[in-house]
Amino acid sequence: MASLRLDLPVLQNWDCHNCGGCCKQHLIEITDVERDRILAQGWTAADGIPDGQPVIEKMSGWFGRPQWRLSHQADGGCVFLDERGLCRIHAKFGEAAKPLACRIYPYAFHPAGKSVAVSLRFSCPSVVKNAGRTMTAQQAEIRRLAESVVPKDVEERQPPQINAVERLDWRDFHQCVEALDGTLADAAGTRTPLLVRLLRAVEWTGLVGMSKFDKLKGERLGDFLNIIQEAALADVPALPQTLEEPTRLGRLYFRLLVAQYARKDTAADLKAGWIGRWRLLSAIWKFSRGRGDAPPLQSVFKPVPFATFEAPFGPLTAEQDEILTRYLRVKVQGLHFCGPAYYDVPFVEGFHSLALVIPVTLWLARWLAASSGRSQWTTDDVIQALTIADHHHGYSPALGQYAARRRVHMLTAAGDLPRLITWYGR
Ligand code: SF4
Repeated sequence: MASLRLDLPVLQNWDCHNCGGCCKQHLIEITDVERDRILAQGWTAADGIPDGQPVIEKMSGWFGRPQWRLSHQADGGCVFLDERGLCRIHAKFGEAAKPLACRIYPYAFHPAGKSVAVSLRFSCPSVVKNAGRTMTAQQAEIRRLAESVVPKDVEERQPPQINAVERLDWRDFHQCVEALDGTLADAAGTRTPLLVRLLRAVEWTGLVGMSKFDKLKGERLGDFLNIIQEAALADVPALPQTLEEPTRLGRLYFRLLVAQYARKDTAADLKAGWIGRWRLLSAIWKFSRGRGDAPPLQSVFKPVPFATFEAPFGPLTAEQDEILTRYLRVKVQGLHFCGPAYYDVPFVEGFHSLALVIPVTLWLARWLAASSGRSQWTTDDVIQALTIADHHHGYSPALGQYAARRRVHMLTAAGDLPRLITWYGR
């Protein structure tokens, strides 16, 4: 690959702060080559790996072909994570000896025509906190990582569809992405709250979902995007004075979505087998009823009455607004919300799924606050809730299944998406 052009999310900073969170949260799948390399490293009790503990486990693979992942300790942490939260492979053999998935995290790379869009996973707390060096300062390192994962034919990849039926060329697709980023940014420094900007974006992308693009190309598309953005600006000047509650059905679909985001699928959960699956099914049943207490889907949550989540816990502070704005903009700029980054869904559906992460996050922030006996969320609650939600967004197979996609479609078609944003944003 001659020279890979990267589109960096320049509003984001990051450095690893060795919190070890990623090594406790994720199941690390490895290739045959990585398996052979790790086995050849000859790990023993002298390195801190308990006697008899395998470092690699077999997963069920497609068509009988074995797949592998790193083993986990009893607390769910990777077998190579030491007591100080550091990686034993990195310490003994250097960064290059680690599995590729570990070296890449939290970066994500997506085809963007003649360039590659770089995004970050907000399941990493340092990403959410914007803690570290700028992306520009790390460009050489990011390029090295990108070159190790981006396929050689990346420039041949088509853009994601724009809506359910049409696909634009890359130049026009980028026009739509830039317009979306422009709506989400508080570019003019007007201090318009994120929720208002998000409602505007939901409104005009809904029109993109219904539009035909055979005659809307190039400059005409630019004019069309300007018109619908201005219409959304006029329609949503501020948050509505009188809040409209989500419908009953909208709440049901939304709770089921929240249950998907609140899950924790660690190695220990997978090993729980039928008992684990039964526990999960029973929790989902309770989420669908929405009565009594919300069953804790991971240890950070306590049983809290469903009615609690309907009370106001906000509003968002300027700091929380900045975190959630940056989240949405990094995902949009990094094309981390549609196409290959998000179950191959079109631009409009992908953005509506991304917009739903905001009420999901604020629902989870309520749960964290209420679990500690508080009736208002803090910035730490919002940060933790976003790391939990983004862990799944685009990565949990359940969210890409027909039922989950249909729920997103129903929520937008019934007008519940804006209601959920304002109701749980308060
Ligand atoms: S191999 Fe190292 S970096 Fe990867 S999950 Fe395990 S401890 Fe973390």
